Amino acid sequence: MKFTKSGNSFVIRLAKGEEILKSLTDFCSQNSILSGYFWAIGAVDSAKIGFYDLNKKEFNFKNFNTPYEIASLIGNISQADGKPFLHIHTVLSDENFTCIGGHLEEAVVGATCEVYLVDLGINIERKFDQEIGLKLLDFQ
Ligand code: ZN
Repeated sequence: MKFTKSGNSFVIRLAKGEEILKSLTDFCSQNSILSGYFWAIGAVDSAKIGFYDLNKKEFNFKNFNTPYEIASLIGNISQADGKPFLHIHTVLSDENFTCIGGHLEEAVVGATCEVYLVDLGINIERKFDQEIGLKLLDFQ
């Protein structure tokens, strides 16, 4: 990972082989980023994405072990249980230009991953919501 900074914005380049969620979570910890948002483009060698089944209150995850372009990746940063919580969704396109998409759980960078991230500079927390079964954004 390499990055540069301008004001409250960061430009990050993830290297081939780095796992996106873990790398960006560690980045937020190391730079004391409590909330913010980001987008990215690039490519992945593999990905695990999910669809949340609200009736069962659980994610159905599927692994994709072939290269994809990151046609779009957007995410937000908040805090849950005292740690950075990154919520990421993505659309990935394959060699036939067919797209898959959903809640990103894991993805290993292929050629590159270019992330533009904004630090909001405030603390935003998540709290578990019994009815939904997820940690939702919580404002006091
Ligand atoms: Zn999601």
